[in-house]
Amino acid sequence: MTYTSIKSDGTFPHTLRVAHLYGDLMNTYGDNGNILMLKYIGEKLGAQMTFDIVSLEDTFNADDYDLVFFGGGQDYEQVIVSQDLPSKAAEIKRFIENDGVMLAICGGFQFLGQYYIEASGRKIEGISAMNHYTLNQENNRFIGDIEIYNEEFDETYYGFENHQGRTFLSPDQKPLGRIIKGQGNNNEDGTEGLHYKNVFGSYFHGPILSRNARLAYRIIRQALLNKYKTLELPAFEDILLDEEKGQQITDSKRKVER
Ligand code: GLN
Repeated sequence: MTYTSIKSDGTFPHTLRVAHLYGDLMNTYGDNGNILMLKYIGEKLGAQMTFDIVSLEDTFNADDYDLVFFGGGQDYEQVIVSQDLPSKAAEIKRFIENDGVMLAICGGFQFLGQYYIEASGRKIEGISAMNHYTLNQENNRFIGDIEIYNEEFDETYYGFENHQGRTFLSPDQKPLGRIIKGQGNNNEDGTEGLHYKNVFGSYFHGPILSRNARLAYRIIRQALLNKYKTLELPAFEDILLDEEKGQQITDSKRKVER
């Protein structure tokens, strides 16, 4: 299938507006690379991508955005962000319940839940958009390469995790995947991340989308379908297989180099 992502006058046929929540404060282990990947894949699928950092004291209006990205953070930044979050909580929840597409990594994922107990034992409130909660652990962090399998999508995702929080999903929450390797949400129940409506939560850095082009495609595709309803989009295999192969080459090279 030949798919034209740019019109003959050089403009894109579609637009996607992305809110990068607290992008100036929540960006651990290269999470901002997800923004580059969203732009790359969005443009391949014919969407001009715009990005706004929505941070402290900014207004977040759910109707202004087609996609939301919320990166990870260190405890210090998370405390600062937690003081501002209540002002945006209602609109973030409205975005989620209206099937908005969202990617939330590590600290951002923790914040969507009820609360996060940080390393020193202090409780940081989340926005309770969902029921998961995050406990602390003593003198330990979950650090290392991680691999999970999502049965619903029949996809395997690769990443790097580095967190002290131990997240527990409520019985009504689905994980993003089951652990093949690594520690994931809590190193107890074999779950990693969450998938609710069009929200993807995960502990994966790396950044997750650069290492998992199929997930990036899924996210952009869903945002475009939400907005334009009857869009005919090219399949992943038609436009992004080379990127996936490139990633596999990088991964196997990394294994050999160790
Ligand atoms: N500060 C949180 C923790 O350690 C989140 C870490 C992160 O976002 N990388 O669990």
